[in-house]
Amino acid sequence: MIQSINPYNGEKLAEHKEFSSEEIKTAITKADSAFRNWRKTTFKERANLLLKVAEDLKTNSKEYAKTITQEMGKPISQSIAEVEKCAWVCEYYAENGAKHLASEDISTDAEKSYISYEPLGVILAVMPWNYPFWQVFRFAAPALMAGNVGVLKHASNVMMSANNLEKIFLKAGFPEGCFQNLVIGSGKVEEVIHDERVKAVTLTGSTGAGQAVAKAAGGEIKKTVLELGGSNALVVLQDANLKEAAKVCAKARFQNTGQSCIAGKRLLLQESIAEDFLNLFKSEVEKLKVGDPMNEDTYIGVQAREDLAEDLEKQVQDSVKNGAEILIGGKREGAFYAPTILTKVSREMAVFKEETFGPAIGVTTFQNEEEAVDLVNSSQFGLGVSIFTQDFEKAERLAPQFEDGAVFVNELVKSDPRLPFGGTKMSGYGRELSFLGIREFVNIKTVYFK
Ligand code: NDP
Repeated sequence: MIQSINPYNGEKLAEHKEFSSEEIKTAITKADSAFRNWRKTTFKERANLLLKVAEDLKTNSKEYAKTITQEMGKPISQSIAEVEKCAWVCEYYAENGAKHLASEDISTDAEKSYISYEPLGVILAVMPWNYPFWQVFRFAAPALMAGNVGVLKHASNVMMSANNLEKIFLKAGFPEGCFQNLVIGSGKVEEVIHDERVKAVTLTGSTGAGQAVAKAAGGEIKKTVLELGGSNALVVLQDANLKEAAKVCAKARFQNTGQSCIAGKRLLLQESIAEDFLNLFKSEVEKLKVGDPMNEDTYIGVQAREDLAEDLEKQVQDSVKNGAEILIGGKREGAFYAPTILTKVSREMAVFKEETFGPAIGVTTFQNEEEAVDLVNSSQFGLGVSIFTQDFEKAERLAPQFEDGAVFVNELVKSDPRLPFGGTKMSGYGRELSFLGIREFVNIKTVYFK
């Protein structure tokens, strides 16, 4: 049995019977047969259905958000914002998908030659609990628009949301089999990957999960897109607008109770402004309202599971043993971890070198830009970096020196359907969103006439 448990009060919300191997096969058969018809539909038909999904998400955002909050503890206002953002990505691909996948004439020595983008078939999406709707829609909207069909293996702790997702697509009029939720734990993912009708896999989650899935898919020569962990740096240079930067940095680290791959997890401060900035930052963090995730004004809820809060506690304690100092926080109660700022953090400490997935941030200082770039790049991860400066020329000069998939200047790293999203190094490969995301799971076909 797979369980949905409210991490705020421990209440068991639901039990879900895991699919047997037979049921997995039946679902994939349904997906494969849906694909044969779905691939023949026009972009207009697909766009109309995506727009219906968007409409439903906007109309029923509160209802879907409530389940998200109950299952994984996200403050309700942030759950509503998440559901609404999913409507945006559906609208974006409904409007732009046909353009992104239009055949392109290429002039060669042929009479005529062109590239066409054709769907692959059944795509498996292995998804995490931190944004139970957004992570799935970021995959599903472009995949369906491209003419693929999807089977979802969602995180075990958010199966109610996963069931809601399947219902949303059916309610909008997507043919049965176009989008299905497989009620399975991680132990059955390989079985799905080995099914020859499954053509590719996308995974968002931890590095370990990414490695396991990529290994299985690699053995079958199936393409993967991996969006794994991150340890983004927030770099505050001495010429930054400190007050504004402090507000942005607090949001960058603490929204979604710190459980985001693109959260700013390492705060890097230029020595000359470190003390002033830290005072501003600390007061921004102290303003964040902690409490019941169901209250509309709560900003920090509980972590999605108690073991995740325990992991964070260990990383903080380990760093303190190695010389870090707790400025605020550092306490856990069940799945709740108090917003925490650690100072005197150095490269070898857990909160610097590992991904911290919760409301804690480590502060490290640097003397000059060169040292800042080196600190940023010393991470095994490469998802994104935010730099704060009022000197745009300096920012333009620094941007190419970072090894990450994204550089944001005076802003937190965030996903936007119009821009590609993804990382380098241990943060994974491939891109989601934008015209690049919709081209990940297509057969890029060369057609040549002599
Ligand atoms: P996981 O990476 O374990 O879970 C993400 C998804 O992968 C879930 O659907 C999970 O299924 C599945 N999965 C896990 N292991 C395997 C495997 N070996 N083969 C196939 N599928 C697998 O995240 P956790 O919940 O354990 O969180 C641990 C850490 O992962 C966090 O602390 C954070 O560092 C990172 N993480 C990163 C995310 C991101 O956005 N990049 C999101 C979530 C977590 P199941 O739930 O059934 O185990």
